[in-house]
Amino acid sequence: MKDTFKHKGLRKQLVATLVTKGITNSAVLEAIGSIPRHLFMDSSFLDHAYQDKAFPIAASQTISQPYTVAFQSELLEVKPSDKILEIGTGSGYQTAVLCLLGAHVYSIERQLELFKKTSKFLPKIGYVAKRLIFGDGYKGLKDEAPFDSIIVTAGAPFVPKPLLAQLKIGGRLVIPVGDVDQIMTLYIRKGAKEFEKHELGNFKFVPLLENKN
Ligand code: SAH
Repeated sequence: MKDTFKHKGLRKQLVATLVTKGITNSAVLEAIGSIPRHLFMDSSFLDHAYQDKAFPIAASQTISQPYTVAFQSELLEVKPSDKILEIGTGSGYQTAVLCLLGAHVYSIERQLELFKKTSKFLPKIGYVAKRLIFGDGYKGLKDEAPFDSIIVTAGAPFVPKPLLAQLKIGGRLVIPVGDVDQIMTLYIRKGAKEFEKHELGNFKFVPLLENKN
């Protein structure tokens, strides 16, 4: 588990690529510039860790493309101490970005293998989420609600109602919506029953699955 000068150099190039693709939030860019993404990946893909691409992780899932992580993180407009719910912990890379932005992160994963692996790994390399939960993200996390923001990192066929209900007034939900590919969608809660909706381009995620464990 080494982070070498070579890795640091590759990360700088990755950050430069994200800037050319339109990412401007300096805290997000700094986080991506400092997190050793190669440590979140399976050994067979190590050489590719700093390409702007998604790659397979365990349990037929993927670590999201860095651009996607940056884009979603930017949309959350994270302030230090924000209480954030993530659906789809996966490798924990997005979780680590949110931790570095100073958020208090709650993250749910439905694959037991990934939940166990990431629960051990993240604290080992210094990223401490408030809670990692094994469960079904469709339900959100009622006992910890409301949240300043909620991020979904899998493609949702529809917007789960509990996620909208668990946002603070002024809170933001960032969710890719669609079956085959997804439209990145931002909901801002304006009142008890009022939500502002923004659609922000096409993406491709692994599906948000109903809990079958
Ligand atoms: N943020 C992760 C992305 C992993 S891919 C990363 O950067 O590595 C999406 C993840 O969502 C997968 O790990 C998948 O198992 C998980 N997932 C799918 N459906 C889910 C659900 N209903 N509840 C919680 N997690 C879910």
